[in-house]
Amino acid sequence: MRYDTVIVGGGLAGLTAGISLQKAGKSTAIVSTGQNALYFFSGCFDSIQEPTPEIKSLFSEAGIRVHYTPGVRLMPMGTFKESALALEDVSLFPTPQFGKKVLIINFMAYHDFFSSFLAQGLEKQGMECRIRFLNLGDLAQPELGPNQMRAVQIARKLDDVWEKVVQEVRVLLKDEDTVVLPQVFGLNDASIPERIRQGIPARVVFAGTLPPSVPGIRTQMLLKKRYEVLGGTYLLGDRVTGAHVYEDVVQNVVTKQLDRHYLEADHFILASGSFFSKGLSSNPFKIYEPLFELDMDYDPDRNTWYDPTFANHQPYLGFGVKTDAQLRPSRGGVPVKNLYVIGSILGETHPELGSGAGLAIRSALKAAQLITGQP
Ligand SMILES: Cc1cc2nc3c(=O)[nH]c(=O)nc-3n(C[C@H](O)[C@H](O)[C@H](O)COP(=O)(O)OP(=O)(O)OC[C@H]3O[C@@H](n4cnc5c(N)ncnc54)[C@H](O)[C@@H]3O)c2cc1C
Repeated sequence: MRYDTVIVGGGLAGLTAGISLQKAGKSTAIVSTGQNALYFFSGCFDSIQEPTPEIKSLFSEAGIRVHYTPGVRLMPMGTFKESALALEDVSLFPTPQFGKKVLIINFMAYHDFFSSFLAQGLEKQGMECRIRFLNLGDLAQPELGPNQMRAVQIARKLDDVWEKVVQEVRVLLKDEDTVVLPQVFGLNDASIPERIRQGIPARVVFAGTLPPSVPGIRTQMLLKKRYEVLGGTYLLGDRVTGAHVYEDVVQNVVTKQLDRHYLEADHFILASGSFFSKGLSSNPFKIYEPLFELDMDYDPDRNTWYDPTFANHQPYLGFGVKTDAQLRPSRGGVPVKNLYVIGSILGETHPELGSGAGLAIRSALKAAQLITGQP
């Protein structure tokens, strides 16, 4: 099977590159093992200040609703973090004290939403909090068992009965100016969080739950849908297990399921993520990129890899595949001519491209521009 470009990894970086290339009229295939960092997404795109027109159209054409409001967001444990660009369901405030009286809503037997920690955090900011529980079984049948009370299962139910939640909250609301709800709404319909806001006569804030992240999975599904509508081939659940490189040019890649039907292309993009997604690996002696054995940018002295204070920035997160300014890697010091490396597998080796989601999107757009030759 032959494509213009084959992309290894279908997270935020791989999908952004695939969408850009398909839009430019190129044929592409994405091979992706499965879950990616979007399943753990907070809903805030790190290191993107005011989005460029290109980033804006990436989101709007995929149906991803975002807003740019520099400020702070409420974290799942009741603390606050600075952010600027977020999905529409994530509220950003000028200061952490966003209200006076807060009603926090949770669901009975749902333990992945920390309503008590949220209350403690908000009370530290001088807000008065009241927690109330809704019984999901009263709202939607059949009832979920205790092991099924996870964000995605709950969200699937709530897609159909979110209006009942609005009614219940309106009954519970006394003199509170703010209602905090778990981020379990709008899995298949990005407009639901905004419609909930319109239905409740108070400020509505959606706060994060334990993974999987409902806004993150929604974002992944919308990007994948957009990619496929543009004609891209997304090979979900497959893994690239090897590559044939001849005279510094990648000829094809081998996948577990396609066996000897190699994926051939003029260009290849490696978007396989960092340690978390197994794009990078380590053993006691080295940190390495397992697929192409690309040159790495890291300190070989193992003692420098991590900071014993867990909460500090961990140096190993900065390690990544070494590339030139055109995102082209090398093997044994020799550049690989038709391979581009994008996303979190770059670690902190390209600070000019940002970090987190900003790095994933900017590096993907850059690789697509380099491949198409379009400005
Ligand atoms: C837990 C977690 C939470 C995060 N939260 C945020 C956040 O809230 N905001 C933010 O801005 N950034 C966040 N980040 C940073 C995150 O890395 C980026 O935002 C971005 O989503 C990374 O995208 P990526 O495509 O580079 O990598 P990934 O999302 O890791 O995707 C890589 C994909 O490649 C696949 N893959 C790997 N090897 C192969 C192979 N051999 N064959 C086929 N497929 C393969 C993996 O299965 C995975 O699906 C988070 C990171 C982590 C780890």
